Amino acid sequence: MTANTPGARQIWCAVLGELQLQVTRPSYETWLKGTVGIAQLDGEFIVGTPNAFVAEMLEQRMYTLISQTVERVIKGPADIRFQVIQDDESDEIKEAGSPRTTGAQASFSPGGPGLPQADDDQRQPAQPPSRLNPKYTFDTFVVGKSNELAHAAALAVVENPGATYNPLVMYSDVGLGKTHLLHAIGERMRAQGLRLIYATTEEFTNDYIKAIREGKTEEFRLRYRNADVLLLDDIQFLIGKEQTQEGFFHTFNALHMSNRQIVITSDRPASALKTLERRITSRLAGGLVVDIQPPDLETRLAILRAKAELMGLDVDPVVLEMLGTRAHRNIRELEGSLNRLVAYADLTRRPINVDLVVQVAADTRQQEEAHQVSEEAVLEGVSSYYKIDIETLKGRKRDRKTALARQVAMYLLREEANMGATAIGRLLGGKDHTTVLHGCRTVENQQNVNDRLRMDILKIRESLAG
Ligand code: ADP
Ligand code: MG
Repeated sequence: MTANTPGARQIWCAVLGELQLQVTRPSYETWLKGTVGIAQLDGEFIVGTPNAFVAEMLEQRMYTLISQTVERVIKGPADIRFQVIQDDESDEIKEAGSPRTTGAQASFSPGGPGLPQADDDQRQPAQPPSRLNPKYTFDTFVVGKSNELAHAAALAVVENPGATYNPLVMYSDVGLGKTHLLHAIGERMRAQGLRLIYATTEEFTNDYIKAIREGKTEEFRLRYRNADVLLLDDIQFLIGKEQTQEGFFHTFNALHMSNRQIVITSDRPASALKTLERRITSRLAGGLVVDIQPPDLETRLAILRAKAELMGLDVDPVVLEMLGTRAHRNIRELEGSLNRLVAYADLTRRPINVDLVVQVAADTRQQEEAHQVSEEAVLEGVSSYYKIDIETLKGRKRDRKTALARQVAMYLLREEANMGATAIGRLLGGKDHTTVLHGCRTVENQQNVNDRLRMDILKIRESLAG
């Protein structure tokens, strides 16, 4: 699928024609009339709305109806995304009769809100200070065996931007310090007066799509290519976005050829990024790839000590040891355990000591057990969210909607009800366990690239928690 603005507009007109027959007149006048078809790309169909309120209403109340209608018209699958049309919308779209926006929401631009557009002064810093988390600096980064390579590489890049390791790719499981290091690099480079662009891959994608939609790809190119440093967080989100990969590839090449530093993070190993275009993976491999491992006990304790000190607390080493020796999947959870303890002490006005650690641990375990969801609850949650009855979920029907709902059920049965694949298969009318595993994996992967699915799952989870 390609970006095709006029095509998108025509498609949307056809969709509106059909929707007009299906919804009440006031509903149509209020919510749908001012919308325009903006673009169709990467399996997404983007609809422009006059304001955030309309976008939200359509998203919440009419999503299914709209997506089904679009899919009928284009004869293929599409995720619908609603986007507020900006004040500076291209004339083209205004001519199409869409209302001008009031209070247009500023969508991401790597130049940052309030900074000039590309046709203004290009010498502005490419980044407002607020985009980097001031807590994520080299000073607050605790170095241990698990991350010393990444740390050293990050420092080398700061000292010699564009020269030594380009690109620098940092890879690890979630919560092990990639974003922290990336921001630390950014902070140092900004202090050196370099123009940097920091973006998550999702922001990069949105920015690129916006540029295409507005016919401003040249400005996009200029803006990015004017940066001295490009910091791109979570590149795994490029998986499945062919159109954006194209944009990324050209941006990357332009920067790389003029020796601008590029730093990228990923929470997948290079092998799992295989589905990215080959030309991209080979470019990434041309630089330095470093990974960050889970911290050993010594590093975990050092991190806890540093965090306690940052909070101005004098915590008994035994307490820190108790926290540090527990199984934590990552540093974010490790921090979380300390934060929880401190909050608990505050709330109950008790000192932070060994007794309290034991108490908090017991309470946490109890809460977790209470949170365990029953298999019936998951099935009911999925069934009522997708409006498909449980028998159908358990049955053989295989249209797209049912198949999706069934896979989401598999995934949530595993995640929320802690069931194994065989048990899930049995519950769902005798499906093979490999089918279940495939379903879970599909949902897991799709969540990374499909915002809609992520929202669906979030909402079902919320309904389970309530
Ligand atoms: P990732 O991007 O790999 O998912 P983050 O960079 O967001 O992980 O790190 C998760 C949390 O752990 C952050 O609050 C970060 O400050 C903290 N953290 C990670 N590594 C370290 C470290 N070596 N020293 C201190 N804090 C760390
Ligand atoms: Mg991160």
